[in-house]
Amino acid sequence: MKPSRTLLLTEELIALDSITPHDKGCQQRLIELLAPLGFTCETIESNGVTNLWARKGSESPVFVFAGHTDVVPAGPLDQWHSAPFAPTHRDGKLYGRGASDMKTSIAAMVVACEEFIAAHPGHRGSIAFLITSDEEGPATDGTVVVCERLEERGETLDYCLVGEPTSAHVLGDMLKNGRRGSLSGHLVIKGVQGHIAYPQLARNPIHQAAPALAELAAEVWDEGNEYYLPTSWQISNIQAGTGATNVIPGHMTIDFNFRFSTASTADGLEARVHAILDRHQLDYDLRWTLSGQPFLTPKGSLSDAICDAIHDELGVQAELSTTGGTSDGRFIARICPQVIEFGPPNASIHKIDEHIELRYIDPLKNIYRRTLERLLAA
Ligand SMILES: [Zn+2]
Repeated sequence: MKPSRTLLLTEELIALDSITPHDKGCQQRLIELLAPLGFTCETIESNGVTNLWARKGSESPVFVFAGHTDVVPAGPLDQWHSAPFAPTHRDGKLYGRGASDMKTSIAAMVVACEEFIAAHPGHRGSIAFLITSDEEGPATDGTVVVCERLEERGETLDYCLVGEPTSAHVLGDMLKNGRRGSLSGHLVIKGVQGHIAYPQLARNPIHQAAPALAELAAEVWDEGNEYYLPTSWQISNIQAGTGATNVIPGHMTIDFNFRFSTASTADGLEARVHAILDRHQLDYDLRWTLSGQPFLTPKGSLSDAICDAIHDELGVQAELSTTGGTSDGRFIARICPQVIEFGPPNASIHKIDEHIELRYIDPLKNIYRRTLERLLAA
């Protein structure tokens, strides 16, 4: 049997140790493959991050494959059963850092385009690639920079398929049509330090904050909606005290995070937290960090095309979900009306011995190709 082109390209990409924010030549390899297909390829560098915008055609609709060439660090090498950047087959699986997050997806997108364009040379619309080496890092010089550039020159997008690993138990069982927002707060409650035997001369910030924290923990922020679970508020760190058992501490610090649905806004949540703290008459400082706005693509032509492609290829009925962490989809959604993420199972991502089942590699490519056929075949 002829070795799968998608598998070979995946292995080539895994062998390049593109630990975030380094690309290590991955995108150059993609350019070598895309340029002969008729793509105009543009490298956009930003503070050590390498981004690729490649587009074939000038017509609408514009279908974009999006993803990242960077990977998270391997972690302790002695715990890997084969070297993380030496792609290895074992027990029907391909092992290597990036195997599921997300070098197989990138390879599958490129080979899907080769096959689609060969079969439909006069296809409708345009096909594009938006690839970054800064998804696993701070994500400040990657997809967001390319999106700003596209917006400046008035380039509009219609459909975006992000190749993140979204499947849960088997390939094709889940895709993401949105992601929750993430809003963090660093709260300092100010008291007055003193001897524990003379509480009348001190003000205990722990005692003062406790009822407010109980109220924050019990608050129903929203009910979620058709696509989202209710917004969740969680404390991640709490610290107070000098270490001595006879001292009332002078302050308490609390870190918390909202994972919020499109039923709430960051401004609205901030205002409600301040209202609760103020009602308890606390003396405090609160610093906010909004690390991601939520986005949502309601069920529509793109999600239907991907779900149908999955069903045709595997007979699996995919579920739409908005669970999991933030992704670059949040940046693309600002300039593209339909953004859906779909890729391999995510059980091994970011772990020691990351892998993908070999039997999923060509079906993933076929699903991407079938999606193009449904949306752009002439
Ligand atoms: Zn990823």
